[in-house]
Amino acid sequence: MVMGVREIREQFNPANTSECIGKIELHTIEETEVKIRASEQAFQQWSKLSSVSRGEILNSMANLLIEHLEPLAELASKEMGKTVPEMMGEVKRGASILRYFSQEGMRAAGEVLPSASEDKMLYTKRVPLGVVGVITPWNFPIAIPLWKIAPALVYGNTVVWKPSIEVSLTSQYIADLFEKAGLPKNVLNIVQGRGSKLGAVIIKSPKVKAISFTGSNAVGQQILNTAGPMNKKIQLELGGKNAAIILADADLDLAARLTIEGAMKQTGQRCTATSRVYIEASVYDTVVEKLIENAKKIKVGETMGPLASKQQFESVIEHIARAKAQGAKCIFGGKPVAELSHGYFVEPTLFTEVTHDMDLAREEIFGPVLAIFRVTDYEEAIRLSNDSEFGLSASIYTTNIHKAFDFIERSEVGLVQINDETGGAEPQAPFGGMKNSSTGFREQGQAAKEIFTVLKTVTINGIRVKGKCEQ
Ligand code: NAD
Repeated sequence: MVMGVREIREQFNPANTSECIGKIELHTIEETEVKIRASEQAFQQWSKLSSVSRGEILNSMANLLIEHLEPLAELASKEMGKTVPEMMGEVKRGASILRYFSQEGMRAAGEVLPSASEDKMLYTKRVPLGVVGVITPWNFPIAIPLWKIAPALVYGNTVVWKPSIEVSLTSQYIADLFEKAGLPKNVLNIVQGRGSKLGAVIIKSPKVKAISFTGSNAVGQQILNTAGPMNKKIQLELGGKNAAIILADADLDLAARLTIEGAMKQTGQRCTATSRVYIEASVYDTVVEKLIENAKKIKVGETMGPLASKQQFESVIEHIARAKAQGAKCIFGGKPVAELSHGYFVEPTLFTEVTHDMDLAREEIFGPVLAIFRVTDYEEAIRLSNDSEFGLSASIYTTNIHKAFDFIERSEVGLVQINDETGGAEPQAPFGGMKNSSTGFREQGQAAKEIFTVLKTVTINGIRVKGKCEQ
């Protein structure tokens, strides 16, 4: 069979754009189709292996990740720009995700139910789906793939994984470690290449029974349009425009520090990053000063990395220019860092005088940019924080327990934080948003089984011994 000609792609360091860090051979459409077929065949054996044995492989993978902590973090840092300490944190998080789901192999896969008939046994049993398509973005190149792949595998599915082309080398490293951990051939098949070309093959294939996707709303919509009518299970984790509220009764130092961390960590390239902050009028000036103080502490090029790619850099610069043109006032940052022009470095940027009809208040920027709003009171803050097409995460800083509980009820998001920044997820807790931030199933925790398994209901008739029980 002719497999087409492989394109070779060079990966460059976003912190030093002339440094080529490696090459990757991209797969062809034909190779992607072959890999999907191979995954379908591998499912026959993999799904028969006990879930405990499958979990043991995930545990070995967790150990390998920790053994490879430094080289993997350094490679991933050079490939997408997060600082090495941030990346080491992500590798460790990946190991925790694997450990959590390795244990899942020892947990119940169904429940026994009472039957109306004394002669019947009635129970449920979760079974895998078959081949699952996992399509992932570049911003968490280790954690996001693992929190999809680990549950998919432990429940007995095989996986075809298409990572973002921006993080091809890191993704290949992870796939190779899975092989070293003892994962049988074709249980996880990585396909390297462009989403519009190879992602499309996965989405359209009738052999792929579910799609778990994290990325932009535009691509998510295409997946819904194509895979939805094919009756595939679909999980979409999409964009965010996450708000924080700072009330007058809050610990203002904590609120300002965590708001800046929430906005600027990982150069703002987190779906849960804080991108809007609503401050009660009576403390507005004090808090804005504190926000600036905290932004000043960030050392671009040391504690904050570059944007991940030229495309990201240009997009963030364009958003900043548009915010200025629409009348927002840039009170801090707002430009590329002149002395770091060898990389895609942008200053942490703060805007005031933002109105809710500006793009800055509504569109996801995915960069180190924070929009600051003055509000008269809590009621105005909650109304404006909910005034968004997105609903991923939100936080409130307050010492008033009634307002905190009211916020838990009324904020239209999937992840609510009290006195903490908008980001943050733990493997045992469900992750996902409301409104246009998510579609379908939650990720992680026990919620992960909803996408990666299907329930069978089993009835066994004639379980009582008729007459005398013979030895
Ligand atoms: P993207 O949508 O451009 O790409 C995501 C993945 O989809 C990549 O692997 C890409 O190759 C693939 N893809 C692209 N076009 C495709 C197509 N036509 N068919 C199938 N696959 C295709 O997103 P990105 O730029 O990599 O990531 C940034 C976005 O991800 C942001 O919008 C961010 O908010 C979102 N994100 C969301 C979460 C969450 O949990 N909600 C987490 C991280 C990132």
